[in-house]
Amino acid sequence: MSFSLIIHGGAGNIFPGMMTAEEETLYKLGLEQALQAGYRLLKSGGSAVDAVASAIASLEDDPMFNAGRGAVFTKKGINEMDAAIMDGSNLAAGAVAGVRNVKNPIKLAREVMLHSGHVFLSGAGAGEFALNRGIELAPDEYFLNKARYEQWLEIRDSDYYQLDHKADNLKGAPKTDYKFGTVGAVACDQNGNLAAGTSTGGMTNKQYGRIGDSPVIGAGTYANNTTCGISCTGHGEFFLRRVVAHDISCLMEYRGLSLKEACNIVVKGKLVEMGGEGGLIAMNAKGNHDFCFNSTGMYRGFIDASGKWMTAFYGVENE
Ligand code: ASP
Repeated sequence: MSFSLIIHGGAGNIFPGMMTAEEETLYKLGLEQALQAGYRLLKSGGSAVDAVASAIASLEDDPMFNAGRGAVFTKKGINEMDAAIMDGSNLAAGAVAGVRNVKNPIKLAREVMLHSGHVFLSGAGAGEFALNRGIELAPDEYFLNKARYEQWLEIRDSDYYQLDHKADNLKGAPKTDYKFGTVGAVACDQNGNLAAGTSTGGMTNKQYGRIGDSPVIGAGTYANNTTCGISCTGHGEFFLRRVVAHDISCLMEYRGLSLKEACNIVVKGKLVEMGGEGGLIAMNAKGNHDFCFNSTGMYRGFIDASGKWMTAFYGVENE
């Protein structure tokens, strides 16, 4: 039986030479572990939803990525995390925004989907739901990542907020070595069902209460068996305004475009026209996939039923 899984660890100004060999190895390892976590589930007949949640949880536990343990800091110097998951077989969805001290926000989003009777919970209400459902919490120290904290210290007194790996291309912003990213996964399971999920700490120095595209169903995350599963990463404000993930699904549904054509129109056309930097991973119910980004690079990976896998960071690599 065929199945496949794609993941991302953030798009942005990621280019050859920006990382040490050791850092490259750590990213590769993080992506590989997430692929293997999802693969094990899919191979044993698990659902796309469970594979997506498990791949994302693995990335959330890895401080190299801007989600869960490695979440960036807001203007107030705290972590506020967003996550969403969607089941393409029945359009069920769960999302959380602005959550604190939740070890794996993607697990909370999945719990919202399955057990809350709602789609989207935020802030203190989402925290209370996590407590009631026995979702694992972690103290502030767990999220205190030195590199992220220093990124924030550099810009906390400015009005800048930025993709954590946007490097120096914000006019007037301090030159900082931004290397980490939002995470996401899309899977197609043995039954041909799609699921997509995304988890993030958002953008460094974001306003208190700011919510990006990642947890917004249709903007940063979307799955529908009849079209595709999508997880986005990039400057969330643009992805929200362009309703990126659902737009791609609509281009496929209403105009009969292929996955690749639809992704290109939105990411390399519409987003670029309005200055929205970033990218996404996409898959259809046949398991065909696309990595599409208008930034210099995107941490990404793929694994199929044969166990063949790849990871890549920069421009056009082995896809
Ligand atoms: N899209 C995320 C946000 O705006 C950030 C990212 O993808 O790195 O919150």
